[in-house]
Amino acid sequence: MGKREIRKREQREKKRVAAERVDVLFTLAERVFPYEPELSDRYVEIALAVQRKAKIRIPRKWRRRYCRRCHSFLVPGVNARVRLRSRPYPHVVVKCLKCGHIMRFPYLREKKERNRWKPRRALSGSGPSEGSS
Ligand SMILES: [Zn+2]
Repeated sequence: MGKREIRKREQREKKRVAAERVDVLFTLAERVFPYEPELSDRYVEIALAVQRKAKIRIPRKWRRRYCRRCHSFLVPGVNARVRLRSRPYPHVVVKCLKCGHIMRFPYLREKKERNRWKPRRALSGSGPSEGSS
């Protein structure tokens, strides 16, 4: 095995560990939120620092759970308002009640649904379209 392969493997391992850490931090944030919401925000900050450093994406399950502007941990019904909208495309609107920032997340139950809204990408199976959801 060449040096390059080893390097690649290390890089992948680093990202895997970072993703795990991000997941743990968000899990902790959720757990402590009822008692110490400020600590939750700290966990989010740390998770985002890990994410930036490792250049990974925030796992899908946590993407709607923090404010992109003020980095607060968000709990729907407590410090975030969540609404579903079908126009102009099906999406979830999450509003941070702390700073008022509004985030939109397209939600696509099925590929079929997606094809209706993005006909151009319809033919490519799993494209790099994960980012925005
Ligand atoms: Zn906010």
